[in-house]
Amino acid sequence: MKRSGPSFQQEQVKLKRCGECHGRGVVKPMFYEMPCTGCNAGGMVNAETGEALSLEDLVLQLRLEANRLEEDNQRLRRDLMECSGPERGYGPLGARYTGD
Ligand SMILES: [Zn+2]
Repeated sequence: MKRSGPSFQQEQVKLKRCGECHGRGVVKPMFYEMPCTGCNAGGMVNAETGEALSLEDLVLQLRLEANRLEEDNQRLRRDLMECSGPERGYGPLGARYTGD
């Protein structure tokens, strides 16, 4: 059976850092790290409800977030190239101090 339309929404949900694990996805109550139950180990929760996303949603949302960060990263790299000019890698930030 073929259905039209997506099986789930590809809409980006606003996320915020999970308060229980501070975005790490793991908590360390004693000596061992455990997957955080507050966010399904995703590190992010729904910014509006503060609730963990289902695993299916979590994968989708983290992928969308990863895509967004990737685009950000590429844009920043382009900007950086323009800033540092043709001799990149040897700009002021690439200079090394070798003093004692
Ligand atoms: Zn968490």
